[in-house]
Amino acid sequence: MTEAPTGQPQADCLFCKIVAGEIPATVVAETATTLAFRDVSPQAPTHVLVVPRSHHENAAAVAEAEPGVVADLFTTARAVAEAEGLGGDYRTVFNTGAGAGQTVFHAHLHVLGGRPLNWPPG
Ligand code: 5GP
Repeated sequence: MTEAPTGQPQADCLFCKIVAGEIPATVVAETATTLAFRDVSPQAPTHVLVVPRSHHENAAAVAEAEPGVVADLFTTARAVAEAEGLGGDYRTVFNTGAGAGQTVFHAHLHVLGGRPLNWPPG
């Protein structure tokens, strides 16, 4: 199948389907450019994924095509952390590439908190 241009919904993309409401998710925040929903396999008491509504493979691709949306992802992450009562203590992570743990190739910012977080991550 030919891939749609970057930014456009991809037919086989899990997170595009969540953004479109075709696959259910527990949405905790949304803006014109972002959607935040709980991770199906949480690694901390708060584990939320903040995604751009537009499809890009990873964070760098979002930055190249729509730099303002990267800022929107972090602004939404902060709103989620505040709503979850995390104060200033939370971690934001983009995994880029399979070797770094990326399994869904629609950019997403992990927001983790609610327990002590060790460094370095595994
Ligand atoms: P990655 O490994 O690509 O950085 O993160 C992908 C995340 O998506 C994982 O933490 C995984 O648990 C989560 N995930 C995978 N499938 C689904 C799903 O269908 N719904 C939700 N809410 N999260 C998912």
